[in-house]
Amino acid sequence: MMNRRDFLKKATALGIGGALYPLQHALGAPPQHKLKMLILGIDGMDLHLAHVYMQKGVLPNFSKLAAVGGLRAVSSSFPPQSPVAWSDFSIGATSRTHGIYDFIHRDPATMMPFHSTSRVEGPEKTISLGGLKIPLLDGKVELLRKERPFWEYLHDHDIPATVFKMPANFPCENPKVRMVSGMGTPDLRGGYGSFTLLTSAPHYPAEKVKGGLVVPLKFKAQKATASLAGPKNTLRVDEPDTLVPITIWRDQKNNVARIQIQDRQFVLKSGEWTDWIPLSFTMIPHLSDVKGICRLYLKSIHPDFCMYVSPINIDPSDPSLPIISSENYRRELEQSVGYFYTQGLPADTKALSSGVLDDVEYFELEQQILAERNRMLDHELSRFAKQDKAFLFFYFSSLDQNAHMFWRIHDRGHPLFRENSNNPPGNAIMHMYRAMDKMLGDVMDRLDIHDPNLRLIVMSDHGFAPFRRQVNVNTWLYEKGYIELKNIQHRESNNYFDNVNWTKTVAYNVGINALYLNLKGREKYGIIPESRANQFLDRIRQELLDLRDPATGRKAVSSIRIVPARARRDNPFAPDLILGWSRGYRTSWDSVLGGFSPQVFSDNNDKWSGDHCIDPALVPAVLFSNKAVQKARPALVDITATILAEYGIPLPSYMEGTPLFGV
Ligand SMILES: [Zn+2]
Repeated sequence: MMNRRDFLKKATALGIGGALYPLQHALGAPPQHKLKMLILGIDGMDLHLAHVYMQKGVLPNFSKLAAVGGLRAVSSSFPPQSPVAWSDFSIGATSRTHGIYDFIHRDPATMMPFHSTSRVEGPEKTISLGGLKIPLLDGKVELLRKERPFWEYLHDHDIPATVFKMPANFPCENPKVRMVSGMGTPDLRGGYGSFTLLTSAPHYPAEKVKGGLVVPLKFKAQKATASLAGPKNTLRVDEPDTLVPITIWRDQKNNVARIQIQDRQFVLKSGEWTDWIPLSFTMIPHLSDVKGICRLYLKSIHPDFCMYVSPINIDPSDPSLPIISSENYRRELEQSVGYFYTQGLPADTKALSSGVLDDVEYFELEQQILAERNRMLDHELSRFAKQDKAFLFFYFSSLDQNAHMFWRIHDRGHPLFRENSNNPPGNAIMHMYRAMDKMLGDVMDRLDIHDPNLRLIVMSDHGFAPFRRQVNVNTWLYEKGYIELKNIQHRESNNYFDNVNWTKTVAYNVGINALYLNLKGREKYGIIPESRANQFLDRIRQELLDLRDPATGRKAVSSIRIVPARARRDNPFAPDLILGWSRGYRTSWDSVLGGFSPQVFSDNNDKWSGDHCIDPALVPAVLFSNKAVQKARPALVDITATILAEYGIPLPSYMEGTPLFGV
């Protein structure tokens, strides 16, 4: 049977697509030109937990909204990873159209991994002059998500739109739509958030600290000096790190320290945070510098001095990359909110995983991040309240990040569960749901949810599950004979496939849910002819569905999607097979980047203890709205279709969803 999407495609090809929608609107809601729509995007809000907390009475404002319009389970993307799910929502179509399949893709021509949603490249042509490298052309910053997002259609129809921190939307350049980029936006050093720890502790296990830099300090007469590393100076031939000096005087008796960075001084007690500090990294003296911002946290003064420096964020008042869509919006934010976290995900999960911040310190930082985000929402809401037609999308990352890091506290089945879970910060996940409820309450105090011209939607991109056991897919492929190693004595390697004999390898895993065949004509060293691809994929799929955890006897994989051959031919970055793990399981930390482990299965002993990159049927997202939804289990793409339909805008043919609201 022809599905709706195929029908629309054919209808559009025949030139009748435009005529279809007036008909639909004659049957459904009329176009609303005075309509205001606010969508609050809460990453990782889980359907089951929402129900549990609503029943406990912890979420009175969510209960109120659900009573006015409703609460629905929403099918997430396959795989249910945020860059994929929010791209489904942004484009109104699935991976085959927007091209994002996983956090990490690989380039089959080089076999190298890359961040799937954007690419930042230096200038291709430069000339050398002494020690300097002068660029002849600008570098390139490219958004890899394909097709037009829904907000461009809003703009085409004169609906003023603001899209705040939509994931997978960096770089964002469009003077017509107010946007700040979100998840996927790098810090100033070009990573996704790397902290610095300045410490006088002897023998600090620097090699164990993943995700940041450890800078050793030596105090002489209670004074120490060090440097903070900024971006690489790409204007110099040898590309050294740019550095900012930092001087520390400590007063052990009074438990305070004075810190000087560039022309600013701070006095901090142990346990205190600074506000944002502007930094200037010099590329060419007096001519070119790059602006960043950071925050300091003084952990301890004695016996060992320990100070956490946040990742150096791109300065939003003078951004070196396109993180705010227009100069006007940049100036408006500078005046009304000042400095703010610009890195894609502000929570420093790596600092918690590596023990540089403890649970209480991490939780405190998360509260500060949320308070900053709420101040920005306050600014956007004041503006939204004054408009008579408008669209606002506003995104929160805190609930997702807290659920990742604190799942272990209430999950008795997790290897890091400890009986005395009443220690601070207590039930950090419930606390965050409560904080979201308070935020929603503040929003509903300022807007009339019974106003027929207002649509209020709260949505998430996926739910949540425990991450107790990790599975090294590459090790499994090796044990099954699909990967050949050059040297089997050195099987446990984390150095991105350096021990793999590609000329005898059938399939491999890169990314959290993606599995690829080593396909002839596509992969650099491909050996599997296209004619045998399906045979191998069917076999691997069946064997994975039969895979059992020897420790529990449970099946590790709940569902598997084989990507259609045409989608794979159209896009060389698309995986061949997508893994949908059972609850409690996920691809291992090592396997994600081409590493091998001694065992296929092992406990996940990382504080990153909850996850959602599993079978999407097991982690539905949520949709609350102030208008009744007709469909029982909508998909993310249906919410996109709803936005355009509510404003009376025809759906472009590539969009896959159907509008959710009736008359
Ligand atoms: Zn997440």
